[in-house]
Amino acid sequence: MSVTEFGLIKQYFTKPLKNTYVNHLGVGDDCALMSVPEGYELALTTDTMVEGVHFFANADPQQLGHKLLAINLSDLAAMGADPVSATLALTLPKVNEVWLAAFSQGLHELANQFSVDIIGGDTTSGSLTLTIQAMGLIPKGQALKRSTAKIDDIICVTGCLGDAGLALKIEQGYACSIPEQALQQLHQPQPKVIEGLAIRNFASACIDLSDGIASDLNHILQQSGVGACLHWNNIPRSIPLNEYIDKTGDWMLPLSAGDDYQLCFTVSPNKVDLIQIACTQIGVIEAKQGLRILRSNRISELEVKGFEHFS
Ligand code: ADP
Ligand code: MG
Repeated sequence: MSVTEFGLIKQYFTKPLKNTYVNHLGVGDDCALMSVPEGYELALTTDTMVEGVHFFANADPQQLGHKLLAINLSDLAAMGADPVSATLALTLPKVNEVWLAAFSQGLHELANQFSVDIIGGDTTSGSLTLTIQAMGLIPKGQALKRSTAKIDDIICVTGCLGDAGLALKIEQGYACSIPEQALQQLHQPQPKVIEGLAIRNFASACIDLSDGIASDLNHILQQSGVGACLHWNNIPRSIPLNEYIDKTGDWMLPLSAGDDYQLCFTVSPNKVDLIQIACTQIGVIEAKQGLRILRSNRISELEVKGFEHFS
């Protein structure tokens, strides 16, 4: 006998609350109840993944559960928020318990890693569409925004750029000598929550990299009313990505490919010594508008082309 809507919510998505200091009522009533401690503000974000747009029909459900929460936690990380709760809206073509068990496992494993409670959601039938709304706490006034980068600030990124883009090339047939790290980055990105908290007190602006740095850094530049120049030699790249660029000449990949979920942040030159996380300095904020790159002793304009859903 197949499981009912309420049966599946109970079986796969109802867990004891971990953050009982803020989450007072979870799955099971018309609303969840949550409080915001004195002196904090609530950071909210939502992200959707649609079959055929964000993932293929045959995608591994455990990885989908992980990635759906990861991309939401990445947004919280970019603001310097400490994640506490999430709601889950699931639209499923049919009830497939093998799929649901794997999806919920991937989701709950990451939720446990960052102590996030799933406190509610919605379950409907239709084309496979996965949505999470995630919530985090930030001491009042300390959120890292996009609009506050200053001229002469140093631009930093966590991790390597372009590995998720390389993984897509691998899935399209590119023969890579060591594909594991790239594929892991694409399918199970680790949100940089710890890093976001660690830079909150001194970074001047921050964004998470979902569309590629050329596109995402440009949001910081436009909202802060500044420009920037990146140094190609300093863009952190994995060995397989460098091999790929040597073979294909496609040097734009680490700048234009999406799904990296690293943090890109700016910091005043006199606060650079405060950085205690692994990251790379890749460029400088400038007064002159636009995004430029210094490569082979030449400075050129970097064309900004991120993924756009309606273009
Ligand atoms: P209502 O019809 O009042 O909106 P629902 O019947 O949709 O409530 O949901 C019942 C309870 O289960 C609610 O507490 C809701 O938040 C929760 N819920 C529904 N779907 C999910 C899901 N996919 N994951 C987690 N909680 C869910
Ligand atoms: Mg109701």
